[in-house]
Amino acid sequence: LVARVPFLHFFDGFRTSHELALVQPPADDTLRALFDEAAIRAHRERALTPEHPTIRGTAQNPDVFFQSREAANPYHDALPGLVRRTMDRYAELTGRRYRLFDYHGHPEAGRVLVLMGSGAETVHETVDALLAAGERVGVLRVRLYRPFAGADFVAALPRTTRAIAVLDRCKEPGAPAEPLHLDVIAALAQHGHGAFQTLPRTIGGRYGLSSKEFTPAMAKAVFDELSATVPRSPFTIGIHDDVTHLSLDFDPHWKSGAAAGVTACVFYGLGSDGTVSANKNSVQIIAAHTGRHAQGYFVYDSKKSGAMTVSHLRFGPGPIRSAYLIGAGEADFVACHQPAFLTRPELLAHAKPGATLLLNTPLAPGRLWASLPPLVRATIRGRNLRLYAIDAYALAAAQGMGRRINTVMQTAFFAISGVLPGEAAIAALKQSVEDSYGRKGRRLVEQNHAAIDATLAALHAIPVPERDEAADDGAGEAVHATIPADAPAFVRLVTAELLAGRGNELPVSALPADGSFPVGTARYEKRALALELPVWDEKLCIQCGKCPLVCPHAAIRAKLLTSGQADAAPAGFRSAPAKGKEYAGSGLRIVYQVAPEDCTGCNLCVEVCPVRDKSEHRRKALNMAPAEPLREPERANWAYFLQLPEADRSTTRIGLIRGAMLHEPLFEFSGACAGCGETPYLKLASQLFGDRMLVANATGCSSIYGGNLPTTPWAANRDGRGPAWANSLFEDNAEFGLGMRIALDQQREHAEALLRELADVLGTTLVEALLGADQSDEAGIAAQRLRVADLRTRLATLHDPRARRLEHFADALAKKSVWIVGGDGWAYDIGYGGLDHVLASDRDINILVLDTEVYSNTGGQTSKATPRGAVAKFSAGGKRVGKKDLALLAMDYGHVYVARVAFGAKDQQTLN
Ligand code: SF4
Ligand code: SF4
Repeated sequence: LVARVPFLHFFDGFRTSHELALVQPPADDTLRALFDEAAIRAHRERALTPEHPTIRGTAQNPDVFFQSREAANPYHDALPGLVRRTMDRYAELTGRRYRLFDYHGHPEAGRVLVLMGSGAETVHETVDALLAAGERVGVLRVRLYRPFAGADFVAALPRTTRAIAVLDRCKEPGAPAEPLHLDVIAALAQHGHGAFQTLPRTIGGRYGLSSKEFTPAMAKAVFDELSATVPRSPFTIGIHDDVTHLSLDFDPHWKSGAAAGVTACVFYGLGSDGTVSANKNSVQIIAAHTGRHAQGYFVYDSKKSGAMTVSHLRFGPGPIRSAYLIGAGEADFVACHQPAFLTRPELLAHAKPGATLLLNTPLAPGRLWASLPPLVRATIRGRNLRLYAIDAYALAAAQGMGRRINTVMQTAFFAISGVLPGEAAIAALKQSVEDSYGRKGRRLVEQNHAAIDATLAALHAIPVPERDEAADDGAGEAVHATIPADAPAFVRLVTAELLAGRGNELPVSALPADGSFPVGTARYEKRALALELPVWDEKLCIQCGKCPLVCPHAAIRAKLLTSGQADAAPAGFRSAPAKGKEYAGSGLRIVYQVAPEDCTGCNLCVEVCPVRDKSEHRRKALNMAPAEPLREPERANWAYFLQLPEADRSTTRIGLIRGAMLHEPLFEFSGACAGCGETPYLKLASQLFGDRMLVANATGCSSIYGGNLPTTPWAANRDGRGPAWANSLFEDNAEFGLGMRIALDQQREHAEALLRELADVLGTTLVEALLGADQSDEAGIAAQRLRVADLRTRLATLHDPRARRLEHFADALAKKSVWIVGGDGWAYDIGYGGLDHVLASDRDINILVLDTEVYSNTGGQTSKATPRGAVAKFSAGGKRVGKKDLALLAMDYGHVYVARVAFGAKDQQTLN
């Protein structure tokens, strides 16, 4: 308020916003003492008021605009001094001293790293290690980034500085250097002459984009580079750049030594199972009850629920500066909260010799050891790990807590990790339950207390045998070989590495330079999350098709097959004579098959199944059963199902759900939350229009489960056709889709014009058929595609440049279906201006609004689609005004067809 102009402290990423650490907040009185009451009053007096009006935001002309920009110079010039004085005042009040640029290191350092944000902590730690080794190095941390106080910067550096490396956590393509590097160069040019023995050589590099790991080993490599005769600039650190060769090599095994005396714990959980919340709670408990410093950092991808979460917790006697993940061989405690993750190679790699390993497993203690993969057993024995197991899912279910295993696993952690004495830990946990759930009622508190008590009885130490030759013999086998050998090269070379958690090791050359990725990769990510799988009873089933319609993951599907194909199926493959008059006398059979490793066990298909067994009312035509014994036989059945032919799109009764569900979904196995209510609509659209779809997808849940690496669900059929998909922003997605439509229309018009020009040589019969084709149904589209193929054959014989152009645009003659997709946050709120623009056009465009009545991807804030009074997670007060009627607004144009559907209310209406 005193400065009257905005300024920027620093620039950083996810690491700073998502790390938990023990901090000492200043008292409110201390903060109040920093306020300048007169400045606050002056600020208020400058506010717009009709009592003494002013005008702001005038449109200025060339005569005065320049001068008025310069008029603000004194305020920007004064700002560093104001910040400096405020920092000094803060030091007086608290004893904590900050400077515009804080230097740490040797007073006569020759090499200095300059950076800002969380990475500076890592370099601080590295500098300490290098100083201990006798090196003369230092780190300069930027605390006031803009305006950049060049004189202060130079003054903060040791006079002995010979070489400076500036690290920027960003990339500005086309710029001569990154922003901080440019500021440093300018500061040295303006203020550095005479301040040093010789002006320091300055190099710049990029690090940590998207919060990529930045470790002490990387910081040391940058210091080493500064010792080179001709250091590289620009450079990158933390990746392997085999394209432009900018990356510095580093030794990943080099450690700063800061881990000494620190307890490190790593937890592998499943999004929404409560692991991350429990670990945040543990950080608080341990910091409060031991007085130790604590740090928590949580790695999860944007898919959140249903994806792997990895929690990294550190506890130590002093401040923890390690702003990077717990690495291989560094963890004292490793927990695997989801049985499917145990075979991930990096999970056990975290464990240091003698560490404790806690498994959540449904296997009985006596059977557990023999059922572990040989490599896991060999690693446990080789590293002398202490092994504990608990069936947390069974215990949580028995306590009425469903799949929320957080209380059980947190209790088990405290019971065996030793970070708190046993009884004190349990008392602290129970108190934390009171604090968290007390306001929600005694029943919830007692339920959690009972779960804590039951955990102690259900936790088993698993003896590790001294000899285990079978494990030692098989220790060389890979345990996570999920990618079939016949998968496409990109999947084997890139997707497989991402799935195995080795994305950090991929070289630059492995990634597409233009961001175009192959489709249909979700089928290679076998998550095997379901604890129970649906089992089809072909005798009860009425073949209504509702189960594949409702499945959010396309994990139950229907196909027709001949009796010969049924006879050739694996034992246990079920099918039934196809019902319906269209199949009468055909001998065709139908199968509803579950993908056992892609089903999430959400139970929706069972819930929607309308058929009950009259002799056993609880039994339906689909029933959930324990997954483990089913997985192997169903894997074989699913493989057989996949190679059966797809339905003929021209002849199936697509207007009926059971007919439409025979069409192959080209949106499959998405990483959306188990039971997602949005994905069935996209899957249905892909079944109906997928082989000719273009999708413009606004950012939000649908862009995350639709286009988030490592795998994506939009897929292609056997002919190679399928939805082409691209993501754009809330504020321009509608126009983005409109552009797709306009481009397609332009291409079609161009192709039609060329057809007319070449009609004589191509044959008027074909040309007229192409120009007048009725493509209103599947048969018409299929016929047009055959005509286009015929056209291509004829064009290939022509030596005319127009023939080459027409070859290029020929596919535009077959119908394409453009879809603009997004949630209510996009359509009702932020993207509404663009959406309205598209609605006002007369183009052939489909708009699908996935209206969840709340901003779902960001956790639950009200949107204009939220009904009056509705309480959202981050809008606890309830919506004060009613829901906007988007459908009515669209109908107002008169030329827009509007359908408002929910298949839970009426599935046939949705299909219609
Ligand atoms: S349980 Fe859920 S994921 Fe599995 S097949 Fe049924 S609907 Fe699909
Ligand atoms: S919902 Fe039930 S009755 Fe309908 S197709 Fe599926 S299993 Fe058969």
